[in-house]
Amino acid sequence: MLLDAPRRPLRLADTAIPEPGPGQVLLAVKACGVCRTDLHVCDGELPNPKLPLVLGHEIVGTVARIGAGVDRFATGQRVGVPWLGWSCGECRYCHAGRENLCDRARFTGYQIDGGYAEYTVADARFVFPVPDGYTDLRAAPLLCAGLIGYRSLVAAGDAGRLGLYGFGAAAHIVAQVARYQGRRVFAFTRAGDTEAQQFARQLGAEWAGPSDAQPPEPLDAAIVFAPVGALVPAALREVAKGGTVVCAGIHMSDVPSFPYEILWGERVVRSVANLTRKDGEEFLALAPRVPVRTEIEPYPLERANDALERQRAGKVRGAAVLAVAGSGQLPDLHPVP
Ligand SMILES: [Zn+2]
Ligand SMILES: [Zn+2]
Repeated sequence: MLLDAPRRPLRLADTAIPEPGPGQVLLAVKACGVCRTDLHVCDGELPNPKLPLVLGHEIVGTVARIGAGVDRFATGQRVGVPWLGWSCGECRYCHAGRENLCDRARFTGYQIDGGYAEYTVADARFVFPVPDGYTDLRAAPLLCAGLIGYRSLVAAGDAGRLGLYGFGAAAHIVAQVARYQGRRVFAFTRAGDTEAQQFARQLGAEWAGPSDAQPPEPLDAAIVFAPVGALVPAALREVAKGGTVVCAGIHMSDVPSFPYEILWGERVVRSVANLTRKDGEEFLALAPRVPVRTEIEPYPLERANDALERQRAGKVRGAAVLAVAGSGQLPDLHPVP
């Protein structure tokens, strides 16, 4: 499914199977998650994507062919590909273990073709083994919603009372990890979205309400997953002294000005950018121990536009995932939104 230009629907196309170059693996894609970031690319909110582009950075597939010099993986092995597709290894960030901030980093499904396809190539150094116990479809959301959610949770520190703003793919995973760690979870959704609020309670949130509501007690940290800048001061108002508001998305509408008083008291506002391979290793080891159970809405690959529209409407319960034909596991198809 090709993006020819921003703000155009994806187009079903036949393209040549790519060849893995040195250090790369060719993957037969089985499933690919649909992330909010994919919409930001489609909508032209992230500048200068590769064009035409294959979106998708929550890829689960099996190794079909191995490029020169790769000894990490064997043919047939199941692996996952995340958002960080390449980093330089030479800049000050890479040297400091902060490859997520690499000046020359390249990202899957943005500057590198991704997983909305039957085959894709990936740099073997940025590919992870996928834990057993997950089907391909259920594993896919772990690769971004899970990984970036996990990085955001770490950035929230040891907060006992955790607010989650926007209860989509990432929050539904983070809520489970947070409960496993003994934290208390408070979920904020769009006003009137009682379905999402009920979903949050099922996953262990002790309170769920609209994003402009006051939770029953102050929060020690909040993670803002929704790309809505107005949620930053809203969350700051609910965070206790010393608390942190983590902005987890890659793109957000402008943050409105706010009185210094709501930041005073050593409150912190910070963002989380991308992921490191260490995040991936840690989270993919942790997920089966929780165990994180992903809620998914499967779509066949050729209905990627429907999945994106449903994501845009905020109607996905958990994560939308594309199933690739031939993976032998085409699911119950979700009705057209
Ligand atoms: Zn993502
Ligand atoms: Zn670098």
